[in-house]
Amino acid sequence: MQSLDIYWNPILETMPVEKLRELQLVKFKRIFKWAYDRSRLYRKLYDAVGLTPEDVRTWDDIRKVPMIEKENYREAQYKEPWPYGDSLCVPLEEVTVYHQTSGTTGQPIFQPDTWQDWEWWAETWCQFLWAMGFRNTDRVFLPFGYNVFVAFWAGHYAAEKIGCEVVSGALLNTEERVLKMKELKATAFMATPTYVLGMADACRKLGMDPRDLGIKKILCAGEPGASVPTTKKRMEEAWGCNVYDHVGATEMGAWGYECNYKPGGLHVNEGFFLVELLDLETGEPIEEPNKLGKIVLTSFDRMAQPCIRYDSKDVAMWSENSCACGRTHRVFKGGVQGRTDHITKVKGVLFSPVSVEEAVRSMHQLGNEYELIVKKDGEIDKIILKYELAPGCEGQEKEVEADLAKILRIKTNLNFIFESHPYGSLPRYQVKAKRFQDLRK
Ligand SMILES: [Zn+2]
Repeated sequence: MQSLDIYWNPILETMPVEKLRELQLVKFKRIFKWAYDRSRLYRKLYDAVGLTPEDVRTWDDIRKVPMIEKENYREAQYKEPWPYGDSLCVPLEEVTVYHQTSGTTGQPIFQPDTWQDWEWWAETWCQFLWAMGFRNTDRVFLPFGYNVFVAFWAGHYAAEKIGCEVVSGALLNTEERVLKMKELKATAFMATPTYVLGMADACRKLGMDPRDLGIKKILCAGEPGASVPTTKKRMEEAWGCNVYDHVGATEMGAWGYECNYKPGGLHVNEGFFLVELLDLETGEPIEEPNKLGKIVLTSFDRMAQPCIRYDSKDVAMWSENSCACGRTHRVFKGGVQGRTDHITKVKGVLFSPVSVEEAVRSMHQLGNEYELIVKKDGEIDKIILKYELAPGCEGQEKEVEADLAKILRIKTNLNFIFESHPYGSLPRYQVKAKRFQDLRK
């Protein structure tokens, strides 16, 4: 048994699995009834299949509840009560916080939260910040231009809630952020993996070694990179500290995180969320480890705009191991493995772009940035990988491409066309990197 002070909420985090499942069922029934009674969006969805709260009593019943996706929200919103329309479950005057999705996958979705919902957001974040070792002795820097998009707002509030000193670098540019972190002796920061690497570059351009800044830990969000071992290694080596991954969505909340025992994946926050893993073809629940499935999520306690059986389009697999930290919450091995809409067939072979990130980041001669394009050349699928050589490796294209081809062949069973680009010429991203394009669609 671990000492209790490693947990933010020892009761929820170490609850025996049977008790946890009982609690989840109670909470699922509660949020289902709440949404059925109050949301025109959900009522329409459930009436269409003849499902009422009385019909949802067991775990098997949960599988009968229709799934929801982004498109359902888009259809329900942009009407009165403005702008949340049919998805709102509380009187408009109870909404105290507005956010929206990033819009990377289409028209943004509006996210209303009540004061209680927003406290709940911070609480879910507190749980994993604590698990990553954030304490009231930390000075946490937020090098992110947060605005209408939800990203890092909850991180800000949660860090305050556990007693950290929080510094916003919202309107500073990258150089100014790095210099401010140095000046204030920040001990931790939060960013996307792409930006963590970009900031390390910015440090070096200023003649500083990022490792000298004294950062102890970095929380990553927004992209799967911190769960890709080679990308994680790059970040940890660059900054000389621990890097932790977490995963969430605007509509859902932050539902998965890595603890400082680093279980090789992400704990699922089962006290606040129901996380189902479903077979990609049959839709049947997957309980066994090492089988890829689609993640379907329910947030139990978000009341203004509940999210019930949300099809996240993310794929993952359960780990065969429990974590040494003593938390009973299950682990997704290797974190989120990609998106169902990115996993595509190329020349008849199932292809996940995350495998390319692993390969690129495993080679020290390559820079951090790359782009991947799948297109048709006549009837034939072609994959083009644009890359940058790291500074000091100029002229090594031939050897690098030969090695990369071998690694990619093993990982993906596919051949690639390589395009070398000068260092610094591929796009740099601060929020969600868009490195993959399928031009066949
Ligand atoms: Zn753990």
